[in-house]
Amino acid sequence: NDELIRNLDRLSIIGQLAAGVAHEIRNPLTALKGFSKLMQSTLMDTDQLRYIKIIIDELDRIELIVNEFMSLAKPQAVEFEEANIQDLIKGTLTVFETQALLHNVTIETIITHQEPLIIFSQPNQIKQVFMNFIKNAIEAMSFGGNIIVSLRVMKNDTVEVCFSDNGVGIPQERLKHLGTPFYTTKEKGIGLGLTISNKIIKEHGGEMIIESIPNHGTTVKVTLPLLIKSVCI
Ligand code: ADP
Ligand code: MG
Repeated sequence: NDELIRNLDRLSIIGQLAAGVAHEIRNPLTALKGFSKLMQSTLMDTDQLRYIKIIIDELDRIELIVNEFMSLAKPQAVEFEEANIQDLIKGTLTVFETQALLHNVTIETIITHQEPLIIFSQPNQIKQVFMNFIKNAIEAMSFGGNIIVSLRVMKNDTVEVCFSDNGVGIPQERLKHLGTPFYTTKEKGIGLGLTISNKIIKEHGGEMIIESIPNHGTTVKVTLPLLIKSVCI
């Protein structure tokens, strides 16, 4: 038990250090990007324009990794509040309207519960989780497809939110790797989306399950504890 606590301490110290380093990287990165963009707007030579584009693209990638990493390693200082899960879902989907259209993806929601379902949560973190799932679903359907987001109340005072896509799916032997930091099968992937999502869901007392049939699609199921018992009439 003592050893467990020591390990947890060590982990949180490493996490804080990592978040600190990531934070420090952000400022010089912003300067590099700013000046690169400035250069891009003044360059005429096609070769040089090609090089500066590569520089900016790679800087964008570093920025993305640093941002994702910070949200993973950030020490817990988040405020939990009562939030309506239907609103969180709607808020997330709004963000993806144009992106979905652009990728020939339709997003359908099945929310049968009209009365508000309240969870005790950090709304932005839950939205980030939902965004990760939608993003993965869109990326799994390179020729377009359909995402179904459904919500249902379970008997044990939890709410289940499902994100189903009809994309490439995940072979059985790869399922066990999901959630491992930096595990990705995408050329430009980072492999932190599911790790972060899983961490956030656990912090909310919830659970995440991924089911998939290769070439048919994937369903990510999230269960979260409801704060107030839904009133059945
Ligand atoms: P990234 O999206 O950067 O690869 P994630 O942690 O979000 O990182 O996902 C890890 C891996 O899980 C992906 O590379 C992909 O192989 C698999 N994956 C996640 N969601 C889906 C999905 N909806 N359909 C198919 N594969 C998925
Ligand atoms: Mg992802």
